[in-house]
Amino acid sequence: MTYERFAEIVLDIPLNKKFHYKIPPSSINQIEIGKRVRVPFGGRTAVGYCVGFTDISDVKTTKDIIHVIDKEPILNSKMLRVAEWLANFYFCGWGEALETSLPSVVKRGIKTRTISVVRLCKDGASVKEMIPTIKKKAPKQARVLEVLTEVGEITVPELASISKCNTDSLYRLRDRGLITLNKRKANDSLFAGKHFKKTCHLQSTGEQEIAIRLIKRKLRERQYDTILLKGVTGSGKTEVYLQAISEVISMGRKAIVLVPEISLTSQTIERFKSRFDRVAVMHSSLTDRQRSDQWWDIKNGNADVVIGTRSAVFAPLENVGLIVIDEEHENTFKQDTSPRYNARDVSMIRAEYENALVVLGSATPSLESFYNAGIGKYECVTLKNRVGNKPLPRVEVIDMRLEKYRGKNQKYISDYLELCMKQCLSKKEQVLLFLNRRGFSPFISCRRCGFVLKCKRCDISMTYHKQKDAVICHYCFSDESVPVKCPECCSPGISFLGVGTERMEEDIRAMFPKYELLRMDSDTMRGRDSHEKALSAFGRGDIDILLGTQMIAKGLDIPNVTLVGVLSADTIVNMPDFRAGERTFQLLCQVAGRTGRGHKGGRVIVQTYNPEHYSIKYAALHDYDGFAKKELEYRKQLYYPPYGRLARIVLRGKKDQDVKERAADIAEKLKEAIRLTTGMAQSDRYKNKVEILGPAPAPIARVKDKYRWHLIAKADNSEKLRAILKSIENENRHSKRVQIMIDVDPYMLL
Ligand SMILES: [Zn+2]
Ligand SMILES: [Zn+2]
Repeated sequence: MTYERFAEIVLDIPLNKKFHYKIPPSSINQIEIGKRVRVPFGGRTAVGYCVGFTDISDVKTTKDIIHVIDKEPILNSKMLRVAEWLANFYFCGWGEALETSLPSVVKRGIKTRTISVVRLCKDGASVKEMIPTIKKKAPKQARVLEVLTEVGEITVPELASISKCNTDSLYRLRDRGLITLNKRKANDSLFAGKHFKKTCHLQSTGEQEIAIRLIKRKLRERQYDTILLKGVTGSGKTEVYLQAISEVISMGRKAIVLVPEISLTSQTIERFKSRFDRVAVMHSSLTDRQRSDQWWDIKNGNADVVIGTRSAVFAPLENVGLIVIDEEHENTFKQDTSPRYNARDVSMIRAEYENALVVLGSATPSLESFYNAGIGKYECVTLKNRVGNKPLPRVEVIDMRLEKYRGKNQKYISDYLELCMKQCLSKKEQVLLFLNRRGFSPFISCRRCGFVLKCKRCDISMTYHKQKDAVICHYCFSDESVPVKCPECCSPGISFLGVGTERMEEDIRAMFPKYELLRMDSDTMRGRDSHEKALSAFGRGDIDILLGTQMIAKGLDIPNVTLVGVLSADTIVNMPDFRAGERTFQLLCQVAGRTGRGHKGGRVIVQTYNPEHYSIKYAALHDYDGFAKKELEYRKQLYYPPYGRLARIVLRGKKDQDVKERAADIAEKLKEAIRLTTGMAQSDRYKNKVEILGPAPAPIARVKDKYRWHLIAKADNSEKLRAILKSIENENRHSKRVQIMIDVDPYMLL
């Protein structure tokens, strides 16, 4: 044991451990908590984060830090703590969590782009006098001077385009001492050249007023707390957020607003920009430079409000007083690669460290949040009515089984929906059609032997895409040509079953040839702005029928949409996942919420083969509480969330046998941990409310040539679950043969 000061460094590796390094004299004045350092690690050098100091090292020989990278700490102590919590909770490395919390462009650094600017050396009046003389010999130079007397400072490219001069004329003018050429930081920031018309608070409804008053009262307490804002679609939740943010800014504090990727449109940003001056944006479609600029703007204290997607929960904002999570039930807040964190839950931890208030907003809260409000852990405030007292649209459920019996096998639009579409379109109103499945046909099957064409690498049926004339796997994106005969029995009777958006587009165009139709799914919306362009074309009324996947389920607020058709409510209901019912209900409510926004009202038609399903029934009644009560009964019986916590352990490998054996081994370790922590065997699971389900092949048993097995660990509380998972924390999770992934609070069980 040696007695000197060591730096505690965490590295970007899947191991939750602090490493000790000696601080050489050259680094002693530079090293600080929150700075990055370069260190030797396992025969190479690695970048680590300094998280603390210690006088005693647990290893005999410690190595020296090579050098300190940052001049100023890149992470403050609160963000270090948040990442530490994240690592402990989601079973990843502290360093891994820190890596996730910084955008890669910030870590890498980006050169500031400079641009040359031109200005006059002398005052405009005296230059003007000289122009006629110069004009005789050098008309181009004279033109430059004319422009400069008008505009003052201007960039070289702008000047070139106005005066049609070349750089030669500029150098001559500079040499004559008439102008200066200087370098300046290029201003290609996100909002450059954009002007936002300022707006004031809107007149709030009585319900909004109650919500705003509660939030303001809580903000003044300056303590961690959570409010669930449960408001039906169109009830004006955003206005509540805006007024809450205004309050928090007036208190000298700052706000983070998290929204799902798909709702972060330029209209959303504009709503915030037009209310507040210092708004920063963090989302995935920024360019590297914009992302870097925005991050540093926030870090340097130039933003009061950060609006962004999942990763904005790590925005380097100081003095956060409010975190808003809009559409808190959305699964896009959960990251589906390691670390598998949920930004909603990370927000709460951050808010705890910041003494901030969290506002969770949704029309269809997650069962977890609804339950927490029910037991008094969160405050709850409800907006039952739409702004302007517009009624929620009437929802009619069509039993597609009856349609089928009328001998219309290949028809995916019921007579009733067709009739309603005709009525709506003839009045020049717009129709939204929703189908949560892309491609032409999701099953390719043999009529003779029943063979279903599956991906060669994944356990998934191939989808036929007509336009590309290929069959494509939606998991690994591999494609093949369309088989002309059955690969199994060589019969030519290949049929294309089921329906995706591509096929629907064809059918609807044939039914309504006179109307403009646009299909919106990830096949047609590939460009950076295509999504926004499509939505604004629909908003202008250039499109009569908008057909799309979940892309169209959110944010659209167009008064002229008077009919929403859900072509199949069954795509999610039948998924082998305990959240299938909840997802179906949420999606139907979101889609239904796209209509009835104007004075013409709106109606919704839901086509299904499961009309008796409670999710569909309650969604048709707009009855969230009824749905939640029913769903909670089911969850309680099996202590599924919110009555318990889950973790999913997925094992993957090239050889099925290897994966199967490793899964059995992990299961044994987990069961042993149950015996140790509870003193009871797995067979007593109903008494001690902790159990291991599996191992079993995952519902999608093979992806990209790798076999998949999974286990579910289930316990009635999070501490118990953690204690069990601890037993496998230090297993080698990254061996070549079998990889092990731990997903705490999983959203997908496929
Ligand atoms: Zn066949
Ligand atoms: Zn595949």
